[in-house]
Amino acid sequence: MSGAQLAQLMFPRFATGTEVRPIATGVAASPGAAVGEVVFDSATAVARAEGAAVILVRRETNPDDLDGLIHARGVLTSRGGKTSHAAVVARGLGRTCVCGAESLDIDTAARRFATADGTVVAEGDVISVDGTSGLVYLGEVSVVSSPVVEYFEGRRASDADDLVWAVDRIMVRANADTAADSHRARRLGATGIGLCRTEHMFLGERRELVERLILAEDAAERDDALATLLPLQRADFVDILSEMDGLPVTIRLLDPPLHEFLPDRTELTARAAVAEALEQPNPSQRLLRAVNRLHEENPMLGMRGVRLGLVIAGLYDMQVRAIAEAAAARARAGGSPHVEIMIPLVGDARELEIVAERAYRVLDEVATESGVDSPHEIGTMIELPRAALTADRIAETARFFSFGTNDLTQTTWGFSRDDVESSFFPTYLTERVFTVSPFETLDRDGVGRLIALAVARGRAVRPDIGLGVCGEHGGDPESIQFFHEVGLDYVSCSPFRVPVARLEAGRAAIGETDGTADTR
Ligand code: PEP
Ligand code: MG
Repeated sequence: MSGAQLAQLMFPRFATGTEVRPIATGVAASPGAAVGEVVFDSATAVARAEGAAVILVRRETNPDDLDGLIHARGVLTSRGGKTSHAAVVARGLGRTCVCGAESLDIDTAARRFATADGTVVAEGDVISVDGTSGLVYLGEVSVVSSPVVEYFEGRRASDADDLVWAVDRIMVRANADTAADSHRARRLGATGIGLCRTEHMFLGERRELVERLILAEDAAERDDALATLLPLQRADFVDILSEMDGLPVTIRLLDPPLHEFLPDRTELTARAAVAEALEQPNPSQRLLRAVNRLHEENPMLGMRGVRLGLVIAGLYDMQVRAIAEAAAARARAGGSPHVEIMIPLVGDARELEIVAERAYRVLDEVATESGVDSPHEIGTMIELPRAALTADRIAETARFFSFGTNDLTQTTWGFSRDDVESSFFPTYLTERVFTVSPFETLDRDGVGRLIALAVARGRAVRPDIGLGVCGEHGGDPESIQFFHEVGLDYVSCSPFRVPVARLEAGRAAIGETDGTADTR
């Protein structure tokens, strides 16, 4: 059996022979079959999920929708592709997702959406969403559950390693941001965490604390906000390290643009205009100033990743301290923590050098204070073409590289990962510019060459450099074959894709392929 075949069996599917006509098609972004009542916002999803299965329908999702995504059986959006927020989060949570169903006209305020043929679907109506094919149906289609998942869910974490897989050469880690994800990942056979996205720890009520950090007008205010965040981060890391005891855990420092943590600009502007018209004071004035100051036309290419770490004094230091203190606490409790601190979006060796120097200083401080020097490494994501091209220089500081193939695909092709899959990709697929989205299966000819080059240059400088991949391609069978060929140590993917990745890693090790190396 191949990883692709196992992937088909890993998720529930709709019973064959159903005669229901689809009402829309989108990008098959997270596999599975979900049936539920339509809801249009996160709060309603949470409230209704108590008594019914719900499908969250949005134009696109953002970090505010996390609770809704957790409570929904599936998510349907009219914008975005396989690496959009909805897709990545849904895959991580094991929720079914169809993204970029552009023919849908979603009217959140009126709580309904209309399809291309004029069918109107209102809140509470039942739809069925097929995340494996990208099709959406009106009404309930019967679902066949996955026997494979039932099998895995019944196992204990310690059983995972004696599963009968071929010998893995490439190890398989998981992308996990919480203790619960880590627990599931371990039970499904992950040998560590390859990506813990720390921004996911700044959501919900903690968001206000980040807002305080962003709005801080002097060092005292900033330090106060950072000091409040520190114990929260530390507690999260303690939980994750305890679930993953003895295994490597790669924690990525904050990556997304800061305005993602602030309220919506249009809403704030409207509120300011109303206050002005009514000649009332506007309590959100300061917030609006910050939102305007931080607004970016292309946030994906703006102030995110290591750039934040360099500009917001104390932010990365606080995160490193939280990681180091959590590791020390675990070691003191008899655990065996192994952390890898990962710096995102590095384009030049000097960026990493500055951040790493500060991080080592904090690690030393914590080692002295706690009397515990637990193992740690500092490395970087390679997710910009310039980082790949200058990997030799970066390897002078980085102990490991983790290829961020979502951003590397975006920046190598110049394709906005949030926009293109549902806009012109259908034409590109028809015209055979490529036969599969490069956000799904790694583009060997372009992105793959950059990876091969970075591997060679990194190893030339640091022969024992750790090499992994944590973009969505880490769970794609065909891409795993490539990562094996190029000599990576591990792939990291969402917990639900771990069994598929392990099978494919085993197949790669014994030279079994589907013979479909070229995606063109
Ligand atoms: C990537 O870019 O491949 C990656 C894993 O980071 P993110 O998706 O969070 O940008
Ligand atoms: Mg990235």
